[in-house]
Amino acid sequence: MARNSTFLESVDRMFSRAASLMDLPPGLADHIRECNVVYQLRFPVEIRGEIRTFRGWRAIHSEHRLPTKGGIRFSPNVSQSEVEALAALMSYKCAIVDVPFGGAKGAVEVDPREYTEEELERITRRFAADLVRKARLSPSLDVPGPDMGTGPREMGWILDVYKTFHPDDVNAAAVVTGKRPTASGIRGRHEATGRGLQYALREFFRHPDDVKKAGLEGGLEGKRIIVQGLGNVGYHVAKFLQEEDGAKIIGIVEWDGALVDENGLDVESVKQHIMEHGGVKGYGGATYVENGASVLEAECDVLIPAALEGQITEENAPRIKAKVILEGANGPTTAGADEILRRRGVFIIPDVYANAGGVTVSYFEWIKNLSHIRFGRLERRFEEMRGQQVIQALEELTGQPVPQSIRDVLTSAAGELDLVRSGLDDTMRNAYNEIKETLARRPEAEDMRTAAYMLAIEKISRAYLEHGVWP
Ligand code: GLU
Repeated sequence: MARNSTFLESVDRMFSRAASLMDLPPGLADHIRECNVVYQLRFPVEIRGEIRTFRGWRAIHSEHRLPTKGGIRFSPNVSQSEVEALAALMSYKCAIVDVPFGGAKGAVEVDPREYTEEELERITRRFAADLVRKARLSPSLDVPGPDMGTGPREMGWILDVYKTFHPDDVNAAAVVTGKRPTASGIRGRHEATGRGLQYALREFFRHPDDVKKAGLEGGLEGKRIIVQGLGNVGYHVAKFLQEEDGAKIIGIVEWDGALVDENGLDVESVKQHIMEHGGVKGYGGATYVENGASVLEAECDVLIPAALEGQITEENAPRIKAKVILEGANGPTTAGADEILRRRGVFIIPDVYANAGGVTVSYFEWIKNLSHIRFGRLERRFEEMRGQQVIQALEELTGQPVPQSIRDVLTSAAGELDLVRSGLDDTMRNAYNEIKETLARRPEAEDMRTAAYMLAIEKISRAYLEHGVWP
């Protein structure tokens, strides 16, 4: 419990640090910081012949834009204050990357590993029914997505429940995001948070001043990276950085220990081992370290905490040797640790920006659902034809055949996945630069996290003031 109340306090402290540097109308910062409404739902489900009562929450943080958006977490260790902290992060995150949603978060106190698929389906459906009846689940008011312990399967069940209650809602598919691409989802959503982290880190390396500030040089190629958590987020970011950017994953920290290898671990084969054995222990191709947390303190260029909140604390922050921390999880660094790291000059690419790729692609999915058409469907063949015409014109003008490699580029039109990636890349690049501009305008912010919070507060308060919501 202590860990969780600290999480909410941490988020509030980071918020207040940024707000105190700004000139806001009296009371507005307090209003933004607090959750507008929190539903606590207790619901019965029949499990193995007996009725069990589960506890769940849906916290609506800020409704300056609607719908509100945020994942649903299934975990045995959730609490109301944790859900409130996560909902607040969603508001700030959406504002920073210009995703026009308010922030929300949901959770059910359940350990998914203790239940069969059929039991989880019953739990999810019963929770979803309560969300519809009591907590305004709807494509225009509140749209959940996946989070720890949930994924496309659960999102599909939630959609089905909503449709049962609202069979006449033509926009029903937009009530939840993170669905399977074959079930009203969008290509690229599953990998999106990891992909967004990759794009964020690439953008960092496009800024030589930031690279220098962090005490690094050059590009991503060959950089030594430690990842904590090989779940959906950690797995995808580690895989992409290794396979596409030539980075070296020298450490993987999991719940049962860590693996280290200076020459680089093979992310895919470690993932395979975890799927088969439930953890990293027993993996043959690297050194196993029983005290996994100690590897967070190992020498590396970039540390990517992509597991739980509260992993970098005042206790271990003084010993962290990473030059850059790329926050994949929500709230991996406590406010106290953040201050220590800032003083020590560790460059933090903060969660409210870095892990926003998931909700960004959720936004694309929501738009796709509302527009009832796949991105690229209208223009794809037209673009290909245009490419053919350009080739023909080039050949007529030069009297030379256009080489195959150029032909391929000119005649390949963008499909849904290309467009999702392009939109995500653009979003991550823009947001990085907006945070940098905020920092240049308000140097008193000092670091990227404070500047990111300032940017979020500026945008949210503008929405309140301009829409006349603030009296
Ligand atoms: N769980 C994701 C996050 O923490 C977002 C879920 C969504 O797409 O709504 O950002």
